[in-house]
Amino acid sequence: MESLEKLQDFMPYSKQEISNEDKEEVIKALFSQNITQGQILQEYEAKVASYSGVKNALAFNSATSSLYAAFNILASYCHAKERVCEVITSPISFVATTNMMLANNLRPVFADIKFDGNIDSSKVEELITKNTIAICAIDYAGQSVDIFELQKIAKKHNLYLIQDSSHAFGASIKDKDSKEFIKLGGLSFISIFSTHALKPFTTAEGGLLLSNDLEVIQAAKLIRSHGVVKKELYDLEVNSLGFNFRLNELSAALGLSQLKRLDFFIQKREEIASFYDEFFKDNKYFYPLKIAKNKISSRHLYVILLDRTLRCKKQDIVRDLLALNIGVQVHYKPIYKFKLYEGFRRKNPLLAKGISKELDKEGFLSNAEEFYEAALSIPCNQSMDLDLALRIAKMILAVCKKHY
Ligand SMILES: *Cc1c(COP(=O)(O)O)cnc(C)c1O
Repeated sequence: MESLEKLQDFMPYSKQEISNEDKEEVIKALFSQNITQGQILQEYEAKVASYSGVKNALAFNSATSSLYAAFNILASYCHAKERVCEVITSPISFVATTNMMLANNLRPVFADIKFDGNIDSSKVEELITKNTIAICAIDYAGQSVDIFELQKIAKKHNLYLIQDSSHAFGASIKDKDSKEFIKLGGLSFISIFSTHALKPFTTAEGGLLLSNDLEVIQAAKLIRSHGVVKKELYDLEVNSLGFNFRLNELSAALGLSQLKRLDFFIQKREEIASFYDEFFKDNKYFYPLKIAKNKISSRHLYVILLDRTLRCKKQDIVRDLLALNIGVQVHYKPIYKFKLYEGFRRKNPLLAKGISKELDKEGFLSNAEEFYEAALSIPCNQSMDLDLALRIAKMILAVCKKHY
């Protein structure tokens, strides 16, 4: 079958695109006086802040370390003195989100999701207890959560809102009655982005912490760099624990250069995604994850949800596609299924009361389970063109047909 001829080169679901200009900027930075933290880093942070319409942006060496800082600050506000504060979050995320809660003695409480992969805001309120301190949302695949609904819940119950927007730099959302789209970054108390090479734009490894709250920014800076405060000349003071979570000038130079093309990257991803949407319309094997009209996705992931009949064949489908050099991946196994998180399943208060049917299966969440069975991320990135997208799309349909 012609359409089942393997791609010459492996095409991952997401990848970076590096230009000659990126290369030159990084080399320039490499030969500057200061290759750790200098002018370029400052400019990078300022540009990120202004792009996102947020007062402050801090660059970190990963999204994981920025999440650590965010949850460390949150834990310092924990009102449940002897107890552990709870953070309501989605099980469909990269495990770094909740690992960093555990690292700060915060307890993740998992709420079920909707079939856009995002937390179901209507499931959040019933999980709030006196120990709840925050809601942590993830903008799955680059599409914003229903952030305005979460803002209302957070306000009503006096909770902090943390947004792990690792997938979604450059994405935006508009409120019901509003005409204007708002960039993500300033819609939560703290927003986190990842600039890992797989994410919408890259500094190789890196993360960003954004907030309009100056106290948060000051605290995050201390966590980022050893907790050290300069006093006079060589005299330092340390009041709190800190680490080395800093980004360097080379990465900042790459980020600054990449940031110029971010909107173009998203546009190219959107082009591929729109093509897939049209091409896959009405096929019987799967349907693509939908983007709401009031949201503009960064298109970090293009996710298809397999039809019930194909879900038990997913491993075979993945094996076949990988053999054809189509770099599919599954995002994500629900976090509560990991061994480390077993203890975080049954703790759900609704299960003890026998209220929620969805939790019957040992605290598994029915939509999250179904999503994990159905979801498959297929190649959609700025290094692809439409010809390649067409070839890949045909091959995916052919493989699905084979297993149907
Ligand atoms: C990628 C990712 C992270 C971790 O990002 P790093 O920069 O690799 O530390 C955290 N959360 C989510 C949702 C992610 O996708």
